[in-house]
Amino acid sequence: MEKVRIVIGGPRGRMGKEAVRLVTNTDTYELVAVLDRKNDGMLLSDIDGFENIEVPVFADIEKCLITVQADVLIDLTVPEAGMYHAKTALQHGVRPVVGTSGFNEEDLAELEKLCAEKETGCIIAPNFAIGAVLMMKFARMAGKYFKDVEIIEMHHDQKLDAPSGTAIKTAEMICEVREPKKQGHPDEKETIKGARGAETDGIHIHSVRLPGLVAHQEVIFGSAGETLTIRHDTYNRSSFMTGVKLAVDSVMKIDTFVYGLENILE
Ligand code: NAP
Repeated sequence: MEKVRIVIGGPRGRMGKEAVRLVTNTDTYELVAVLDRKNDGMLLSDIDGFENIEVPVFADIEKCLITVQADVLIDLTVPEAGMYHAKTALQHGVRPVVGTSGFNEEDLAELEKLCAEKETGCIIAPNFAIGAVLMMKFARMAGKYFKDVEIIEMHHDQKLDAPSGTAIKTAEMICEVREPKKQGHPDEKETIKGARGAETDGIHIHSVRLPGLVAHQEVIFGSAGETLTIRHDTYNRSSFMTGVKLAVDSVMKIDTFVYGLENILE
């Protein structure tokens, strides 16, 4: 069986390091290059923590994909770089698996269009943790019966985007089944701006940022005389790699655009 040839964007990042470990420890995968804006022209083995991994480092994905043959790009960077990486990959017929969060609706629409034009698979996964994906699915189930819901997402204090992609996606999935409703008292007023959090389709999302946290979310539903809380906790980044592997294996079998790992879970 031929190995899946993989390029990783953001290998020095916390997620990127885990992805390098996953790819180099998986028999059916081959790491063919990495994208790192600060170490162009080096070998990955020249960078601390990657001894013995002799693959080329490119700052620019265009140059990378002209130089090496690749099947899949795993991107774990920031939205601007991730968008450029995913678009360029699709233009070269390379399938993106993007974990980078913070893409907006226009970005997603642009990638979906490019995917269709190039007939090349692409998976954008705001959350690779299988437990988090199940939390979203369970929240969608509950949203049919509970119209009132608030989301509290909690992350480490180095996270750049708020609310998290997972919180936004959870709200979107609940909205697919929930009757629209403006929650809280109709006359409620914030005495401190932002006290009620962000709002999307009447659902309030609260973002907590603290050192010590990794990625956590509570979806709290309320109804007469009862509440239902669905909670997911990620304790370290290795939890995301089962989902990364699932996405890489799946993207090789599709030629369409998929947003959200829940759409590839059986
Ligand atoms: P991180 O530790 O800050 O790593 C980010 C990496 O991106 C670094 O290697 C950084 O390298 C690189 N980078 C930053 N700006 C760049 C640019 N303009 N061009 C190219 N590379 C750039 O972050 P992380 O925790 O690994 O997270 C990475 C991404 O994955 C984030 O978007 C995060 O929200 C997302 N994430 C997704 C999941 C999921 O399940 N889908 C889970 C956790 C995190 P430099 O040293 O050059 O800045």
